[in-house]
Amino acid sequence: MNITLKQYINGNWVDAKSGETRDIINPYNQEVVANVPEGNAEDTKAAIQAARDTFDQGDWPSTPATERGAIVRRIAELIERDREELARLESLDTGKTVEESRGDMDDIAGVFRYYAEVADKDGGELIASPIPNSTSKVVYEPIGVCGQITPWNYPLLQASWKLAPAIATGNTLIMKPSEITPLTTIKVFELMEEAGVPAGAANLVLGAGATVGAELSSSMDVDLISFTGGLATGKKIMQAASSNMKKLALELGGKNPNVIFADADFELAVDQAMNGVFFHAGQICSAGTRLIVEESIHDKLVDALVERVKKFNIGNGFDDSTQMGPLISAEHLAKVEKYVETGVKEGATLAVGGSRPDDPELQDGFFYLPTIFTNCTTDMHIVQEEAFGPIITVETFKTEEEAVTLANDSIYGLAGGVFTTDAVKAERCAAGMRMGTVWINEFNLYFPHAPWGGYKQSGIGRELGRLGLEEYTEAKHVFQNLKPEPLNWF
Ligand code: NAD
Repeated sequence: MNITLKQYINGNWVDAKSGETRDIINPYNQEVVANVPEGNAEDTKAAIQAARDTFDQGDWPSTPATERGAIVRRIAELIERDREELARLESLDTGKTVEESRGDMDDIAGVFRYYAEVADKDGGELIASPIPNSTSKVVYEPIGVCGQITPWNYPLLQASWKLAPAIATGNTLIMKPSEITPLTTIKVFELMEEAGVPAGAANLVLGAGATVGAELSSSMDVDLISFTGGLATGKKIMQAASSNMKKLALELGGKNPNVIFADADFELAVDQAMNGVFFHAGQICSAGTRLIVEESIHDKLVDALVERVKKFNIGNGFDDSTQMGPLISAEHLAKVEKYVETGVKEGATLAVGGSRPDDPELQDGFFYLPTIFTNCTTDMHIVQEEAFGPIITVETFKTEEEAVTLANDSIYGLAGGVFTTDAVKAERCAAGMRMGTVWINEFNLYFPHAPWGGYKQSGIGRELGRLGLEEYTEAKHVFQNLKPEPLNWF
């Protein structure tokens, strides 16, 4: 493996202060593919100090935005140069297919390119001052030291949504990738160094959430935490962040409805229902795990899905024919199995799947069969909670109103889809659905230009788009009296 398996603090590649390391496992066969430093609170404090000093004493925050944009553009170019190596590393670490990882790398380069372009496009704004003989303007400044914490499902993609806007706006940062999937993030720090990100501006600490993540969240020297991960962790971070009233950007879970009307293009709806859930074995925050289907097409749709699922190719992400790889870990596999067990107990009907595959070649990996539950109701755990695996639940509706009510019956509000050929009905549903993204005749599509984030308990704030840049800035109002005179009040 051609990467420096170390942390990156203040421009130096370093081992953990404790000397401890962690094995990184390939979820396809449980082979150890790398051994990386296991940082702790001490490593994190050193990285925070470097980021703090670089922000408070260095030139980075006042570097012209055009120069910062050029660095971000260079990072995009280097990701494109090393696309294949990065894609293979990502698949080794996560088990997802290499083809999918290549797509991720293209998306990631696109995110850096987008923020390179917008970095110097916003010079603030002039306010129409209500006070005679005055000027009033708003300037946008970097927030300061940013802690960035990412999950394992899209390791580098989620990191790119945080790194690119933070660098473009002149913040300093400490990145903590998921302890189980750090490889591509390490590689990108090498590329960021090559691209000219100054020492201390971007730091990388490897290690567990309870140590590194908790230190970042509670530190008095960190100004913002941008976190992507589970709801329970998000709540802990929110509490810890109250230490110094840090700004928070939280991208949390989802239990995303996919509403399919009888008048939908049937083949399209079936195809997208499959893509919406079984991509990356359902380990996607926006996976369309809740199918909400008009009663009259329920049987036909379920039959079509089951037929397709039975032809599925599960296996090694490095084989071209593989459509779905393993789950990320033994612990996660156990969680998915438990959800299926609960679903059966609660009275849902297993239409297909519901177990590990019996193929002897897959026994060392964390594989689970694509699974479809019918006869589901909104009070079931499998309908309300994020199993984060290849599981679809099917509910039915009779009226449009009922469909929207079902879609909204969740503590989450990340994303959802509507399939219908009636454009007006689609818009009405989209307007009624309380979630950060609604796709019409599409599922799981996103691009850097449009914001991403959740309503309700799916999070706070937005990533991507202009709003994703604004998360990393403070707005300062500067007022000048051009004819100052004493008030003579006191
Ligand atoms: P997780 O919450 O277990 O871990 C995410 C990160 O938080 C990891 O780096 C982990 O080490 C760290 N962490 C754990 N405990 C911490 C603590 N006490 N303080 C600070 N950091 C801590 O999530 P996961 O299992 O890695 O990822 C899956 C979750 O991520 C799912 O819920 C999924 O929906 C969510 N997700 C959301 C989005 C989105 O855009 N909304 C995108 C991807 C994933």
